[in-house]
Amino acid sequence: MARPKIAIATFQHETNTFAPFVTGWEQFMTPGSWPAFCVGDQILETCTGLNVPISGFIETASMCDLIPISYAVAEPGGLVTQAAFDAICERMLTGIKAAGRLDGLYLDLHGAMVTEQADDGEALLLKRIRALVGADLPIVVSLDLHGNISPEFCDLVSALVIYRTYPHVDMAETGRRAARVFDTILRCEKLPYKSFRQVDFMVPITAQSTRRQPGQQLYQKLESLEIQGVLSVDLAFGFPPADIPNCGMSVFACGYDQAAVAAATATVVAALAAAEDSFDDQLMAVDDAVQTAGDLAKQAQRPVIIADPQDNPGAGSSGDSTGILAALLKHNIPALLGMFWAPEAARLCHKAGVGAQVQLTLGGTFPEQNGPEIVVTGSVKHLSEGRFICAGPMLAGISANLGKMAAVTLTLKNSGEIVVVIGSNRAQTADREIFRHIGCDPESYGIVVVKSAIHFLADFEPIAERVLFAVAAGQNPCKLTDIPYKKLRQGLRLGPQGPAFINPEY
Ligand SMILES: [Zn+2]
Repeated sequence: MARPKIAIATFQHETNTFAPFVTGWEQFMTPGSWPAFCVGDQILETCTGLNVPISGFIETASMCDLIPISYAVAEPGGLVTQAAFDAICERMLTGIKAAGRLDGLYLDLHGAMVTEQADDGEALLLKRIRALVGADLPIVVSLDLHGNISPEFCDLVSALVIYRTYPHVDMAETGRRAARVFDTILRCEKLPYKSFRQVDFMVPITAQSTRRQPGQQLYQKLESLEIQGVLSVDLAFGFPPADIPNCGMSVFACGYDQAAVAAATATVVAALAAAEDSFDDQLMAVDDAVQTAGDLAKQAQRPVIIADPQDNPGAGSSGDSTGILAALLKHNIPALLGMFWAPEAARLCHKAGVGAQVQLTLGGTFPEQNGPEIVVTGSVKHLSEGRFICAGPMLAGISANLGKMAAVTLTLKNSGEIVVVIGSNRAQTADREIFRHIGCDPESYGIVVVKSAIHFLADFEPIAERVLFAVAAGQNPCKLTDIPYKKLRQGLRLGPQGPAFINPEY
């Protein structure tokens, strides 16, 4: 048999429909902590060896001739502009057409993309691709654990695999699994049966970690269901800040034994129902969190980490909520805090230089969701251009580009210090290098505040005395009953044992 010819492409965006800013072409060109848009063989040069799905697929699909088409990822944020979506789609379609006769297509997608015109970005993409390649070409897709997956989308793909960890330390491994599934489909020369089930309750992001229960045991169970005749069994926890009908958890399986595939999804749905009571959102009021951290830090040998999940740029928030900073200032609690998105403040610090006293306005861009601005006076401790190589378990090897950055020391009334690390391109604080490269070693601080919901656990929990999750203002609301949903499907419950959503349009 000739070597199979497979076109490969990445198009990922996690869309927070509540974020008050859009995601345009520019954000795909400068994605902060992900590789920037590239095409053709540049994809091989850029992604090889990184913990990204397409890299794992390339590594494992050595039995195939791979045609790299395009790679497009932007930092999570508001709706993808229709112009950016259409342009990236067009680039993919042109590349697929130019590749000529294909034996299959591998797509590295997210699953929670919403555009200005489409609630289901991935289904729209697949419709356009199917219109070009026909209904029978094998299309294997890998998705993020946060995919809000629709039945329409599942109808359009041949097979699906989903990350099994949050923090996502298995992105490349998911690409490898996609390649193994693809290999079986090519050898069997027919498309597998599929089973897809949506789950009737949502789980807030802060209860989704697979380093905690019940996430850990639920995801560990999946592999054991991959028995004879079942190619893959996958679970998506979903991405709650998305006001779309297909928001929430879902389960997918595929394989050549139709009954076994259906039984696998039923088993996972039953396991989720049995685990419903044990999800815990871990959230603390912001004043409680900073005061508890202050008390713990007096005795601790290692830093107490406070997460700022509601202002997590990795879930589409802007990264400039002042909530935790205000609480630290109010209670005179010293800490290292980052990364705060403040391009103008970073520019002023670079202009002033290291050692200079500066007056900075932090936050206030979106006061309704992220709280009021804070004016602070401090001294510039360190500066950087925001370019460094990530080193933690999730992002190792990725070249970050966070633009002009500064570490600024604010002196408290009790002579303690808060060091705020600010940057110009939005990014989640998931990797310790974000602090270390600018001369702030997290291990030397009693308290470290990170703008992240869960991903930080991979690199920060191993150095932490304790991890606390504070509820401060932000655009990634974690209490599902507080989110002003309008378009969820009728009856979907807002959280474990939560109330059912009543859709006024229903
Ligand atoms: Zn995710």
